[in-house]
Amino acid sequence: MMLAKRMEQIKESPIVKIADRVREMEAGGEKIIRLETGEPHFATPAVAKVAVQKALEDNLTHYSHSRGLYELRKMICDKYNREFGAVLEANKNILITPGAKQAIFYAILSVVEKRDEAIILTPGWVSYEEMVKLADGIPVYAVANKDKNFEINCDIIKKKITPRTKVIFLNSPNNPTGRIVSQESLKKIMDICIKKDILLIADEIYNELIFKDNSCQSILSVNPKLTNCILINGFSKTYAMTGWRLGYALARANFIDAMLKLQQNSVTCPATFTQYGAMAVLQKGSSFIKRSLKIYQENKDILVKELGKIDRFRIIEPKGGLYVFIDISKVNKDSRAFSLELLEKCEISVVPGMVFGKGGEGFIRICLATDKKNIIEFVKRLRKFY
Ligand code: PLP
Repeated sequence: MMLAKRMEQIKESPIVKIADRVREMEAGGEKIIRLETGEPHFATPAVAKVAVQKALEDNLTHYSHSRGLYELRKMICDKYNREFGAVLEANKNILITPGAKQAIFYAILSVVEKRDEAIILTPGWVSYEEMVKLADGIPVYAVANKDKNFEINCDIIKKKITPRTKVIFLNSPNNPTGRIVSQESLKKIMDICIKKDILLIADEIYNELIFKDNSCQSILSVNPKLTNCILINGFSKTYAMTGWRLGYALARANFIDAMLKLQQNSVTCPATFTQYGAMAVLQKGSSFIKRSLKIYQENKDILVKELGKIDRFRIIEPKGGLYVFIDISKVNKDSRAFSLELLEKCEISVVPGMVFGKGGEGFIRICLATDKKNIIEFVKRLRKFY
């Protein structure tokens, strides 16, 4: 039996593939310092676990509303409405999904048609491209300038717009570069989208993880009515809830209704009991964010300081997010070969920059969400071997 033609165009997620390989090595007894996966190393906040245990005891184990639990939708809308003077309605403007990834997939399937173009800023998150291809669209890459530390700049995006542009992705703070779009550029990008009738998919999954002396604005700050915009966020990164698979999309009702059809006919709804955990962290999780951010900040500061002393490596200092992007091109221009060597020689797993698309080659990404001792050991082994 032949596979569908579309499968020839889709790659496996390279990061998930690396992580799976490292898990297999660990199962075989090898001790690897794991800096590849984009997930907080902390346990999920206790309040979430308690809420889920109670939900299970109360037998809240059946399907929920296909949009997600009303109370959770309302809590999220209220939060954004309070902060940005928006008027998001729980019954119209939000869809709770099994992970932000699923919300992005629904958004793309809802708007992208054959040969529509979708602009992706690179280096950037790996799944946008594959999802666009699955919708028969064409990914178009706007490459950030490495000599300007990959700053997210409206002009490089603008240059890529054609009459076929349907979607622009904006991920700020960016995975993997840690760059944050300025309020001014955010407004410019949004204005262009509205003027040219392009949909902006604003992926704000890292927007609560901002380092000292930086700030990050939500798209709602320049577009409270979400004209031509789908805002994506979730619980994975902020609350160390990656395995819970909970995310959401905020948008105008016509987009949410389209995405809802995809949800109803694929997964029906997100898992019901996990949504009680999400409500608990929204109510009581702010101290968890502060505590984890403090650790990420410390790890980032160690890397900036220590790698700053080794001139073969250049670190792009992140302004937010979970990652550090390191220029390794003076040692090896081939990031995949370098990463493999690092795994073999140093027993450290990282992600080669080339997986993040154009502009990423010659870099590696490491995740800051780990014990400080792993970061220190990473620097020590880099020094020793290179
Ligand atoms: N968006 C970006 C930029 C990401 O880096 C990730 C995960 O790595 C996601 C979305 C997906 O998040 P979730 O775990 O909620 O599906």
